[in-house]
Amino acid sequence: MSVLVMKFGGTSVATLDRIRRAAKRVGVEVAKGHDVIVIVSAMAGETNKLVGFVDETSPLYDAREYDAVVSSGENVTAGLMALTLQEMDIPARSWQGWQVPVRTTSAHSAARIEEIEPDNIRAKFAEGMKVAVVAGFQGVSPEGRITTLGRGGSDTTAVAFAAAFGAVRCDIYTDVDGVYTTDPRIADKARKLDQIAFEEMLELASLGAKVLQTRSVELAMRYGVKLRVLSSFEEQSDDAGTLVCPEEDVMENRPVSGIAHSRDEAKMTLISVADRPGIAAAIFLPLSEAGVNVDMIVQNISEDGRTDMTFSCPIDQVKRADKALMEAKERGDLNFHDLVADTDVAKVSAVGIGMRSQSGVAAKMFKTLSDENINIKVIATSEIKISVLIDRKYMELAVQALHDAFELEKAG
Ligand code: ADP
Ligand code: ASP
Ligand code: MG
Repeated sequence: MSVLVMKFGGTSVATLDRIRRAAKRVGVEVAKGHDVIVIVSAMAGETNKLVGFVDETSPLYDAREYDAVVSSGENVTAGLMALTLQEMDIPARSWQGWQVPVRTTSAHSAARIEEIEPDNIRAKFAEGMKVAVVAGFQGVSPEGRITTLGRGGSDTTAVAFAAAFGAVRCDIYTDVDGVYTTDPRIADKARKLDQIAFEEMLELASLGAKVLQTRSVELAMRYGVKLRVLSSFEEQSDDAGTLVCPEEDVMENRPVSGIAHSRDEAKMTLISVADRPGIAAAIFLPLSEAGVNVDMIVQNISEDGRTDMTFSCPIDQVKRADKALMEAKERGDLNFHDLVADTDVAKVSAVGIGMRSQSGVAAKMFKTLSDENINIKVIATSEIKISVLIDRKYMELAVQALHDAFELEKAG
Protein backbone atom coordinates (compact mmCIF):
# COMPACT_ATOMS: atom_id res chain seq x y z
CA MET A 1 0.00 0.00 0.00
CA SER A 2 1.30 3.46 -0.82
CA VAL A 3 1.95 5.79 2.09
CA LEU A 4 1.46 9.54 1.78
CA VAL A 5 2.69 12.03 4.41
CA MET A 6 0.65 15.22 4.89
CA LYS A 7 1.88 17.89 7.32
CA PHE A 8 -0.35 20.70 8.55
CA GLY A 9 1.33 23.77 10.04
CA GLY A 10 0.05 25.96 12.88
CA THR A 11 -2.26 28.21 10.88
CA SER A 12 -3.75 25.16 9.13
CA VAL A 13 -4.90 23.70 12.49
CA ALA A 14 -5.50 27.00 14.31
CA THR A 15 -9.23 26.35 14.94
CA LEU A 16 -11.57 23.37 15.04
CA ASP A 17 -12.98 24.56 11.74
CA ARG A 18 -9.55 24.53 10.13
CA ILE A 19 -8.84 21.09 11.55
CA ARG A 20 -12.06 19.93 9.87
CA ARG A 21 -10.95 21.49 6.61
CA ALA A 22 -7.55 19.78 6.86
CA ALA A 23 -9.26 16.47 7.72
CA LYS A 24 -11.34 16.79 4.55
CA ARG A 25 -8.11 17.09 2.52
CA VAL A 26 -6.87 13.96 4.26
CA GLY A 27 -10.15 12.22 3.35
CA VAL A 28 -9.56 13.02 -0.34
CA GLU A 29 -6.17 11.28 -0.24
CA VAL A 30 -7.55 8.30 1.70
CA ALA A 31 -10.23 7.94 -1.00
CA LYS A 32 -7.44 7.72 -3.59
CA GLY A 33 -6.23 4.61 -1.77
CA HIS A 34 -3.29 5.95 0.23
CA ASP A 35 -2.46 5.06 3.80
CA VAL A 36 -1.89 8.52 5.21
CA ILE A 37 0.45 9.72 7.94
CA VAL A 38 -0.66 13.15 9.10
CA ILE A 39 1.87 15.26 10.98
CA VAL A 40 0.41 18.18 12.91
CA SER A 41 1.89 21.33 14.41
CA ALA A 42 0.44 23.03 17.47
CA MET A 43 -2.36 25.55 16.88
CA ALA A 44 -0.91 28.87 15.64
CA GLY A 45 0.53 30.93 18.51
CA GLU A 46 0.39 28.02 20.96
CA THR A 47 4.12 27.17 20.94
CA ASN A 48 5.03 30.84 21.43
CA LYS A 49 2.67 30.97 24.41
CA LEU A 50 4.28 27.88 25.94
CA VAL A 51 7.80 29.26 25.39
CA GLY A 52 6.62 32.44 27.17
CA PHE A 53 5.38 30.41 30.15
CA VAL A 54 8.76 28.71 30.47
CA ASP A 55 10.73 31.96 30.18
CA GLU A 56 8.57 33.61 32.83
CA THR A 57 8.82 30.68 35.21
CA SER A 58 12.55 30.06 34.89
CA PRO A 59 14.78 32.33 32.79
CA LEU A 60 17.72 29.88 32.90
CA TYR A 61 15.46 26.89 32.46
CA ASP A 62 16.21 23.18 32.52
CA ALA A 63 15.99 22.34 28.80
CA ARG A 64 14.37 18.95 29.55
CA GLU A 65 11.44 20.68 31.20
CA TYR A 66 11.32 23.30 28.44
CA ASP A 67 10.77 20.42 26.01
CA ALA A 68 8.16 18.81 28.26
CA VAL A 69 6.14 22.04 28.19
CA VAL A 70 6.78 23.29 24.66
CA SER A 71 6.06 19.95 22.94
CA SER A 72 2.58 19.78 24.43
CA GLY A 73 0.81 21.98 21.85
CA GLU A 74 1.16 19.21 19.27
CA ASN A 75 -0.47 16.65 21.59
CA VAL A 76 -3.70 18.63 21.50
CA THR A 77 -3.90 18.95 17.71
CA ALA A 78 -2.92 15.30 17.15
CA GLY A 79 -5.82 14.09 19.31
CA LEU A 80 -8.26 16.58 17.81
CA MET A 81 -7.28 15.62 14.26
CA ALA A 82 -7.79 11.91 15.03
CA LEU A 83 -11.20 12.67 16.58
CA THR A 84 -12.21 14.78 13.57
CA LEU A 85 -11.26 11.97 11.18
CA GLN A 86 -13.16 9.44 13.26
CA GLU A 87 -16.22 11.71 13.08
CA MET A 88 -15.88 11.44 9.29
CA ASP A 89 -15.84 7.62 9.59
CA ILE A 90 -12.17 7.43 8.66
CA PRO A 91 -10.31 4.97 10.92
CA ALA A 92 -7.59 7.05 12.61
CA ARG A 93 -5.61 7.29 15.83
CA SER A 94 -3.02 9.65 17.25
CA TRP A 95 0.58 9.06 18.32
CA GLN A 96 2.86 11.25 20.37
CA GLY A 97 6.53 11.17 19.42
CA TRP A 98 7.59 8.81 22.23
CA GLN A 99 4.81 6.36 21.39
CA VAL A 100 5.99 5.76 17.81
CA PRO A 101 8.82 6.06 18.95
CA VAL A 102 10.68 8.88 17.23
CA ARG A 103 14.17 8.41 18.67
CA THR A 104 16.30 11.56 18.83
CA THR A 105 19.57 12.80 20.28
CA SER A 106 19.40 14.33 23.75
CA ALA A 107 20.14 17.87 22.50
CA HIS A 108 17.04 19.32 24.15
CA SER A 109 15.23 22.07 22.18
CA ALA A 110 17.35 21.25 19.10
CA ALA A 111 17.31 17.45 18.97
CA ARG A 112 17.96 15.51 15.78
CA ILE A 113 15.94 12.49 14.74
CA GLU A 114 18.08 9.35 14.74
CA GLU A 115 15.48 6.68 14.07
CA ILE A 116 11.78 6.23 13.54
CA GLU A 117 10.41 2.78 14.28
CA PRO A 118 7.72 2.13 11.68
CA ASP A 119 6.44 -1.22 13.00
CA ASN A 120 3.71 0.03 15.35
CA ILE A 121 2.11 2.22 12.74
CA ARG A 122 2.56 -0.37 9.97
CA ALA A 123 0.78 -2.96 12.10
CA LYS A 124 -2.18 -0.61 12.56
CA PHE A 125 -2.35 0.10 8.81
CA ALA A 126 -2.36 -3.68 8.26
CA GLU A 127 -5.36 -3.92 10.63
CA GLY A 128 -7.32 -1.43 8.52
CA MET A 129 -6.45 1.91 10.10
CA LYS A 130 -6.33 4.53 7.35
CA VAL A 131 -4.69 7.52 9.01
CA ALA A 132 -1.90 7.71 11.60
CA VAL A 133 -1.88 11.18 13.13
CA VAL A 134 1.50 11.99 14.64
CA ALA A 135 2.36 14.96 16.83
CA GLY A 136 5.12 16.84 14.99
CA PHE A 137 8.17 18.51 16.55
CA GLN A 138 8.70 15.90 19.28
CA GLY A 139 10.70 12.80 20.03
CA VAL A 140 12.26 10.85 22.85
CA SER A 141 15.91 10.91 23.95
CA PRO A 142 18.03 7.83 24.79
CA GLU A 143 17.39 8.78 28.43
CA GLY A 144 13.66 8.47 27.87
CA ARG A 145 12.94 12.21 28.09
CA ILE A 146 10.71 14.17 25.69
CA THR A 147 12.72 16.23 23.18
CA THR A 148 11.83 18.86 20.58
CA LEU A 149 13.42 19.45 17.20
CA GLY A 150 13.82 23.24 17.18
CA ARG A 151 11.27 25.81 16.01
CA GLY A 152 9.54 24.80 12.82
CA GLY A 153 10.50 21.19 13.56
CA SER A 154 7.24 19.59 12.42
CA ASP A 155 8.49 19.95 8.84
CA THR A 156 11.40 17.73 9.81
CA THR A 157 9.12 15.21 11.51
CA ALA A 158 7.14 15.00 8.26
CA VAL A 159 10.13 14.44 6.01
CA ALA A 160 11.66 11.92 8.42
CA PHE A 161 8.40 9.90 8.40
CA ALA A 162 8.28 10.07 4.60
CA ALA A 163 11.82 8.65 4.49
CA ALA A 164 11.14 5.97 7.12
CA PHE A 165 7.96 4.75 5.39
CA GLY A 166 9.17 5.16 1.79
CA ALA A 167 6.24 7.53 1.20
CA VAL A 168 5.20 8.42 -2.34
CA ARG A 169 5.38 12.11 -1.35
CA CYS A 170 5.60 14.47 1.61
CA ASP A 171 3.08 17.32 1.31
CA ILE A 172 3.66 20.34 3.56
CA TYR A 173 0.38 22.26 3.91
CA THR A 174 0.87 25.84 5.06
CA ASP A 175 -0.57 29.37 4.85
CA VAL A 176 1.02 30.24 1.49
CA ASP A 177 0.51 28.25 -1.70
CA GLY A 178 4.15 27.34 -2.24
CA VAL A 179 7.72 28.56 -2.09
CA TYR A 180 8.04 32.07 -3.48
CA THR A 181 10.95 34.03 -4.93
CA THR A 182 10.91 35.85 -1.59
CA ASP A 183 8.63 36.09 1.45
CA PRO A 184 5.28 37.12 -0.07
CA ARG A 185 4.51 39.00 3.14
CA ILE A 186 7.37 41.40 2.40
CA ALA A 187 7.28 41.80 -1.38
CA ASP A 188 3.99 42.06 -3.28
CA LYS A 189 5.80 41.09 -6.44
CA ALA A 190 7.01 37.76 -5.02
CA ARG A 191 6.26 34.97 -7.49
CA LYS A 192 5.40 31.39 -6.66
CA LEU A 193 7.90 28.87 -8.01
CA ASP A 194 6.68 25.59 -9.52
CA GLN A 195 9.95 23.90 -8.59
CA ILE A 196 12.99 24.75 -6.56
CA ALA A 197 16.24 22.79 -6.29
CA PHE A 198 17.08 21.15 -2.94
CA GLU A 199 20.35 23.11 -2.69
CA GLU A 200 18.58 26.44 -3.20
CA MET A 201 15.81 25.60 -0.75
CA LEU A 202 18.43 24.55 1.79
CA GLU A 203 20.20 27.92 1.49
CA LEU A 204 16.95 29.92 1.54
CA ALA A 205 15.76 28.05 4.64
CA SER A 206 19.03 28.44 6.50
CA LEU A 207 19.14 32.14 5.57
CA GLY A 208 15.74 32.82 7.09
CA ALA A 209 12.92 31.67 4.73
CA LYS A 210 10.95 29.86 7.39
CA VAL A 211 8.54 28.13 5.01
CA LEU A 212 10.55 24.92 5.60
CA GLN A 213 12.84 24.06 8.50
CA THR A 214 16.41 23.73 7.19
CA ARG A 215 16.85 20.23 8.58
CA SER A 216 13.74 19.02 6.73
CA VAL A 217 15.28 20.04 3.42
CA GLU A 218 18.56 18.35 4.34
CA LEU A 219 16.74 15.10 5.10
CA ALA A 220 14.61 15.25 1.95
CA MET A 221 17.77 15.75 -0.10
CA ARG A 222 19.63 12.91 1.60
CA TYR A 223 16.79 10.38 1.36
CA GLY A 224 15.35 11.51 -1.98
CA VAL A 225 11.96 12.41 -0.49
CA LYS A 226 9.55 14.01 -2.95
CA LEU A 227 8.75 17.20 -1.05
CA ARG A 228 5.93 19.56 -1.91
CA VAL A 229 4.78 22.82 -0.28
CA LEU A 230 1.16 23.88 -0.80
CA SER A 231 -1.73 25.81 0.72
CA SER A 232 -4.23 24.25 3.09
CA PHE A 233 -6.72 27.01 2.28
CA GLU A 234 -7.37 26.25 -1.38
CA GLU A 235 -8.65 23.29 -3.35
CA GLN A 236 -5.56 21.47 -4.58
CA SER A 237 -4.80 19.69 -7.80
CA ASP A 238 -2.07 17.06 -8.03
CA ASP A 239 0.46 19.55 -9.42
CA ALA A 240 -0.34 22.43 -7.05
CA GLY A 241 2.26 24.16 -4.91
CA THR A 242 6.02 23.97 -5.24
CA LEU A 243 8.02 20.80 -5.68
CA VAL A 244 11.43 20.77 -3.99
CA CYS A 245 13.47 18.56 -6.29
CA PRO A 246 16.91 17.71 -7.68
CA GLU A 247 18.65 20.47 -9.60
CA GLU A 248 18.35 18.68 -12.96
CA ASP A 249 14.52 18.74 -12.73
CA VAL A 250 14.27 22.52 -12.40
CA MET A 251 13.16 24.28 -15.58
CA GLU A 252 14.16 27.83 -14.70
CA ASN A 253 17.73 28.85 -15.27
CA ARG A 254 18.76 32.16 -13.80
CA PRO A 255 21.58 33.47 -11.62
CA VAL A 256 19.33 34.27 -8.64
CA SER A 257 16.25 32.22 -7.73
CA GLY A 258 15.27 33.82 -4.46
CA ILE A 259 15.91 36.45 -1.81
CA ALA A 260 15.86 35.51 1.88
CA HIS A 261 15.90 37.70 4.94
CA SER A 262 16.45 37.24 8.64
CA ARG A 263 15.77 39.83 11.29
CA ASP A 264 17.11 37.70 14.14
CA GLU A 265 20.72 38.78 13.64
CA ALA A 266 23.21 40.71 15.72
CA LYS A 267 26.63 42.10 14.90
CA MET A 268 29.38 42.09 17.52
CA THR A 269 32.68 43.92 17.21
CA LEU A 270 35.78 43.43 19.30
CA ILE A 271 37.59 46.75 19.25
CA SER A 272 41.36 46.72 19.07
CA VAL A 273 42.51 43.15 19.39
CA ALA A 274 46.16 42.24 18.85
CA ASP A 275 46.69 41.22 15.21
CA ARG A 276 48.82 38.12 15.80
CA PRO A 277 48.73 34.46 14.76
CA GLY A 278 46.17 32.55 16.81
CA ILE A 279 43.93 35.53 17.50
CA ALA A 280 40.97 34.18 15.52
CA ALA A 281 41.20 30.89 17.41
CA ALA A 282 41.37 32.77 20.73
CA ILE A 283 38.10 34.53 19.86
CA PHE A 284 36.11 31.82 18.15
CA LEU A 285 37.05 28.86 20.32
CA PRO A 286 35.37 30.22 23.49
CA LEU A 287 32.40 31.27 21.37
CA SER A 288 31.98 27.79 19.97
CA GLU A 289 32.40 26.24 23.40
CA ALA A 290 29.61 28.51 24.64
CA GLY A 291 27.36 27.24 21.82
CA VAL A 292 27.32 30.53 19.88
CA ASN A 293 26.57 30.04 16.18
CA VAL A 294 28.90 32.50 14.52
CA ASP A 295 27.85 33.23 10.96
CA MET A 296 29.69 36.05 9.16
CA ILE A 297 33.19 37.22 10.12
CA VAL A 298 35.30 40.22 9.07
CA GLN A 299 38.67 41.30 10.26
CA ASN A 300 39.22 45.00 9.69
CA ILE A 301 42.40 46.64 8.45
CA SER A 302 45.18 46.39 11.00
CA GLU A 303 46.93 49.47 12.37
CA ASP A 304 49.96 49.39 14.68
CA GLY A 305 49.52 45.66 15.16
CA ARG A 306 45.91 45.99 16.35
CA THR A 307 42.67 45.35 14.51
CA ASP A 308 38.87 45.23 14.96
CA MET A 309 37.15 41.89 14.53
CA THR A 310 33.44 41.76 13.65
CA PHE A 311 31.16 38.74 13.58
CA SER A 312 27.44 38.07 13.41
CA CYS A 313 25.36 35.62 15.44
CA PRO A 314 21.68 35.04 16.26
CA ILE A 315 20.30 37.89 18.34
CA ASP A 316 19.30 35.62 21.21
CA GLN A 317 22.92 34.50 21.62
CA VAL A 318 24.39 37.96 22.21
CA LYS A 319 24.42 37.61 26.00
CA ARG A 320 26.10 34.24 25.78
CA ALA A 321 28.72 35.57 23.33
CA ASP A 322 29.39 38.57 25.55
CA LYS A 323 29.89 36.36 28.61
CA ALA A 324 32.23 33.96 26.78
CA LEU A 325 34.43 36.75 25.43
CA MET A 326 34.56 38.69 28.71
CA GLU A 327 35.56 35.50 30.53
CA ALA A 328 38.30 34.82 27.95
CA LYS A 329 39.54 38.37 28.56
CA GLU A 330 39.55 37.88 32.34
CA ARG A 331 41.50 34.64 31.96
CA GLY A 332 44.07 36.56 29.89
CA ASP A 333 43.44 34.42 26.77
CA LEU A 334 42.31 37.44 24.82
CA ASN A 335 42.91 41.17 24.95
CA PHE A 336 40.60 43.82 23.50
CA HIS A 337 39.57 47.36 24.38
CA ASP A 338 35.84 47.07 23.97
CA LEU A 339 33.06 44.75 22.84
CA VAL A 340 30.18 46.41 21.00
CA ALA A 341 26.90 44.68 20.10
CA ASP A 342 24.64 46.04 17.36
CA THR A 343 21.23 44.37 17.56
CA ASP A 344 19.52 46.56 14.94
CA VAL A 345 20.73 44.61 11.94
CA ALA A 346 19.21 42.17 9.46
CA LYS A 347 20.64 39.77 6.94
CA VAL A 348 19.49 39.81 3.33
CA SER A 349 20.69 37.12 0.94
CA ALA A 350 20.44 36.32 -2.75
CA VAL A 351 20.44 32.60 -3.56
CA GLY A 352 20.76 30.76 -6.85
CA ILE A 353 22.54 27.76 -8.30
CA GLY A 354 23.00 29.81 -11.49
CA MET A 355 25.60 31.88 -9.62
CA ARG A 356 28.07 29.05 -10.05
CA SER A 357 28.34 29.78 -13.73
CA GLN A 358 27.38 33.46 -14.02
CA SER A 359 29.54 36.31 -12.83
CA GLY A 360 28.48 39.80 -11.82
CA VAL A 361 25.81 38.82 -9.30
CA ALA A 362 27.65 40.29 -6.31
CA ALA A 363 28.40 43.51 -8.20
CA LYS A 364 24.74 43.88 -9.15
CA MET A 365 23.63 43.22 -5.60
CA PHE A 366 26.01 45.81 -4.12
CA LYS A 367 25.12 48.40 -6.79
CA THR A 368 21.39 47.91 -6.13
CA LEU A 369 21.86 48.45 -2.40
CA SER A 370 24.08 51.46 -2.96
CA ASP A 371 21.47 53.03 -5.29
CA GLU A 372 19.03 52.78 -2.35
CA ASN A 373 21.65 54.32 -0.03
CA ILE A 374 21.80 51.18 2.07
CA ASN A 375 25.12 50.68 3.80
CA ILE A 376 26.52 47.14 3.85
CA LYS A 377 28.07 46.23 7.20
CA VAL A 378 29.28 42.69 6.55
CA ILE A 379 29.37 40.48 3.46
CA ALA A 380 29.52 36.69 3.22
CA THR A 381 29.47 34.55 0.11
CA SER A 382 29.38 30.90 -0.84
CA GLU A 383 29.10 29.15 -4.17
CA ILE A 384 25.35 29.79 -4.46
CA LYS A 385 24.61 32.70 -2.12
CA ILE A 386 25.61 36.25 -1.26
CA SER A 387 24.56 37.62 2.13
CA VAL A 388 24.83 41.12 3.49
CA LEU A 389 24.24 42.52 6.93
CA ILE A 390 22.46 45.89 6.89
CA ASP A 391 20.50 48.15 9.26
CA ARG A 392 17.24 46.40 10.08
CA LYS A 393 15.13 49.41 9.11
CA TYR A 394 16.20 48.92 5.48
CA MET A 395 15.51 45.18 5.34
CA GLU A 396 12.20 45.32 3.48
CA LEU A 397 13.45 47.96 1.08
CA ALA A 398 16.54 45.85 0.34
CA VAL A 399 14.47 42.71 -0.31
CA GLN A 400 12.15 44.56 -2.69
CA ALA A 401 14.98 46.37 -4.51
CA LEU A 402 16.92 43.13 -5.03
CA HIS A 403 13.77 41.31 -6.15
CA ASP A 404 13.30 44.04 -8.79
CA ALA A 405 16.97 44.16 -9.79
CA PHE A 406 17.11 40.42 -10.48
CA GLU A 407 13.69 40.56 -12.18
CA LEU A 408 12.35 37.74 -10.07
CA GLU A 409 8.73 38.65 -10.74
CA LYS A 410 9.23 37.28 -14.27
CA ALA A 411 9.55 33.55 -14.96
CA GLY A 412 13.08 32.84 -16.21
P1 ADP B 1 3.59 26.75 9.19
O1 ADP B 1 2.99 27.22 10.48
O2 ADP B 1 2.59 26.20 8.23
O3 ADP B 1 4.76 25.83 9.40
P2 ADP B 1 5.42 28.95 8.74
O4 ADP B 1 4.95 30.26 9.31
O5 ADP B 1 6.44 28.20 9.51
O6 ADP B 1 4.13 28.05 8.46
O7 ADP B 1 5.98 29.16 7.25
C1 ADP B 1 5.18 29.80 6.29
C2 ADP B 1 5.61 31.27 6.17
O8 ADP B 1 6.92 31.33 5.62
C3 ADP B 1 4.78 32.09 5.21
O9 ADP B 1 3.64 32.60 5.83
C4 ADP B 1 5.75 33.17 4.74
O10 ADP B 1 5.53 34.39 5.40
C5 ADP B 1 7.13 32.66 5.17
N1 ADP B 1 8.10 32.68 4.07
C6 ADP B 1 9.34 33.19 4.16
N2 ADP B 1 9.99 33.10 3.00
C7 ADP B 1 9.15 32.47 2.13
C8 ADP B 1 9.26 32.07 0.77
N3 ADP B 1 10.37 32.29 0.04
N4 ADP B 1 8.19 31.47 0.19
C9 ADP B 1 7.07 31.23 0.90
N5 ADP B 1 6.91 31.61 2.21
C10 ADP B 1 7.94 32.21 2.82
N1 ASP C 1 4.94 24.13 16.90
C1 ASP C 1 6.35 24.20 16.66
C2 ASP C 1 6.78 25.63 16.40
O1 ASP C 1 5.95 26.53 16.40
C3 ASP C 1 6.80 23.28 15.55
C4 ASP C 1 6.20 23.59 14.19
O2 ASP C 1 5.15 24.24 14.08
O3 ASP C 1 6.79 23.16 13.20
O4 ASP C 1 7.95 25.89 16.24
MG1 MG D 1 6.77 26.19 9.98
